[in-house]
Amino acid sequence: MAGTALRRRLTWQIAKVTAVAVETASVRTITLDVPDWPGHRSGQHVDIRLTDEDGYVAERSYSIASAPGEPVAITVERLDDGEVSPYLTDELRAGDDLVLRGPIGGYFVWEPDDGGPLLLLAGGSGVVPLRSILRHRERTRSNVPVRLLYSSRTLDDVIYRSELDQPAAGVEVVYTLTRHQPPGWTGYTRRVDAALLAEVAWPTGVIPLAYACGPTSFVEAVSQALVHSGYPPERVKTERFGTTGGT
Ligand SMILES: Cc1cc2nc3c(=O)[nH]c(=O)nc-3n(C[C@H](O)[C@H](O)[C@H](O)COP(=O)(O)OP(=O)(O)OC[C@H]3O[C@@H](n4cnc5c(N)ncnc54)[C@H](O)[C@@H]3O)c2cc1C
Repeated sequence: MAGTALRRRLTWQIAKVTAVAVETASVRTITLDVPDWPGHRSGQHVDIRLTDEDGYVAERSYSIASAPGEPVAITVERLDDGEVSPYLTDELRAGDDLVLRGPIGGYFVWEPDDGGPLLLLAGGSGVVPLRSILRHRERTRSNVPVRLLYSSRTLDDVIYRSELDQPAAGVEVVYTLTRHQPPGWTGYTRRVDAALLAEVAWPTGVIPLAYACGPTSFVEAVSQALVHSGYPPERVKTERFGTTGGT
């Protein structure tokens, strides 16, 4: 049985795009119908494979944005000079096919039984798997307290803003806008560092379960800051997107 499930996850299959939604100027959420989907956990990802007319193949990973039980969705940020993301954000339409495999990953996942409180730390599109966790928490009626600290360049770059601006009970969302702030902005304006984490996280004595996700430099900085400030490394889960980013 386990062998069959593993084979399914690692086998490439063809999914159908059912919707493409605009999140920001450079970010799209792509909802998929995956015929042979074994179900996923919050925090997992899929691999996407594109093949051009000459047979050149490019593969990239994308976190699953939806909660377990919801249709599979990914949220992709376009890197203008990238190979794969401009196709996914600019060219892909509802009705198109997309080759993928998954769900993949068993470490950067959260289940209600893992408890909390949860400190979610997002840099740019690193918010994607954390959004799956937030939705999973809500759908399972978990009352684990959550703080999401989300670093974006500008307010217009905040992904899922309408959702995050109306958080579920017990969820606090804190933005930091590192490049440009709208007039009257009273929130944070600096990059995430140990001092900012100390201000946002719970008082001394409460060690939440932390999930940090985003560009590699962001994840390295915040996870090191947490460990230096006394978080046991096993309470700090990280997912590096590999991309460089200015969050
Ligand atoms: C587990 C995981 C989950 C992820 N989830 C998401 C997600 O939810 N959403 C999301 O948007 N992304 C996600 N990513 C990142 C994603 O996989 C891609 O890396 C991203 O979309 C860029 O791919 P690309 O083909 O467009 O760019 P690439 O062609 O891979 O280029 C990326 C950047 O690297 C530069 N570059 C490329 N080659 C070189 C080189 N030889 N030397 C120097 N610079 C170079 C490019 O100029 C570009 O700026 C995730 C990554 C991982 C590992």
